[in-house]
Amino acid sequence: MPATLYRATVERIDSLSYNVRGFHLKLAEPPKIEFKAGQFIILNAPHQGKTVKRAYSIASPPHEPYSLDLCIQHVESGIASTYFWKLKEGDAVSISGPHGNFLLKEPLDYEPVFIATGTGVAPLRAMIKHLLHINFTKQMWLLFGTRYEHALLYESEFRSLVGHRRNFHYIPTVSRPKEWHGEVGHVQQLFQKHVTDYANKEIYLCGWLEVVKAVCADLESFGVPREKLHYEEWA
Ligand SMILES: Cc1cc2nc3c(=O)[nH]c(=O)nc-3n(C[C@H](O)[C@H](O)[C@H](O)COP(=O)(O)OP(=O)(O)OC[C@H]3O[C@@H](n4cnc5c(N)ncnc54)[C@H](O)[C@@H]3O)c2cc1C
Repeated sequence: MPATLYRATVERIDSLSYNVRGFHLKLAEPPKIEFKAGQFIILNAPHQGKTVKRAYSIASPPHEPYSLDLCIQHVESGIASTYFWKLKEGDAVSISGPHGNFLLKEPLDYEPVFIATGTGVAPLRAMIKHLLHINFTKQMWLLFGTRYEHALLYESEFRSLVGHRRNFHYIPTVSRPKEWHGEVGHVQQLFQKHVTDYANKEIYLCGWLEVVKAVCADLESFGVPREKLHYEEWA
C-alpha cells in the first residue's frame, strides 16, 4: 500500500480528556484509504508560510476505510497540535499515508497483550477493533495507564467492549488517583500482576520514547523475552 496524499474534512471533534481530543476525519479526495491496524498518517500543517509534517497514529480500524480517527494530545507551544486545536468541524486538512511497520504479527496464533500510556493507545485501539471485527477468539488484554482517572481515553468504549466480548480484558490503572476504585500504579506493575505466563503471548506497546523504553526495560527484567516485545516509540 503506497502512501498517498489525501484531502480530508474534520467531521467531528470529541473531547477525550482535559488535553486530548479525538478528530474524526472524513476522506474527501481520494475518498478511501487502505491501511493496516497500527499504521500512521502524516499531517501537513501550514505554519508561517511553510508546511510542517507530523506523524499521527490511526486510532480507527482498517474496515472503516472512508474515515480516520486520530487521538491528539495538546502540547504546549506545539506547532501541529496547536493547529489541530484551532480546527473546527468542516475544516479541510491535508494528510498522507499509510505509513509505518508497527503491525500485528502474523499468523494470529497467540494472545496479544496491549500496553498503553496516554495517546499511545491510538494504534492499539485500531488493532483491538480490528481483532474484534475479524472475530479473533483468543484472549487479549489492554493494560492502560494514565496519571489521573479523568485522563483515561476511550474509557466507556473499552468498558462496553468488555461487556460484549468475553475474550477482551480491559485493565486500566492510574498513578495519582483521586476518587478511583480500580488498579493504582504504573502499567509495568499491572503487567506483573496480571500476566504471568508469556509462552503464547505477544506484547504491543506504543507511546513516547522514554516511557516505552522504561516499560520495555522493566518487562525484560521480569523475564519477558525481547522478541515478544513489539513497540513504536514517538520521539
Ligand atoms: C509514528 C508516530 C505516531 C504518533 N502518533 C501520535 C498520536 O496518535 N497522537 C499524538 O498526540 N501524538 C502522536 N505522535 C507525536 C506527534 O507526531 C507530534 O510529535 C506531537 O503532536 C507534537 O507535535 P507538535 O508539532 O504539536 O509539537 P512540536 O512543535 O514538535 O514541539 C513543541 C515542543 O514540545 C515538545 N513536545 C512534543 N511533544 C510533547 C509531549 N507529548 N509532551 C511534552 N513535550 C512535548 C517538543 O520536544 C518541543 O520542545 C506520533 C509520533 C510518531 C513518530
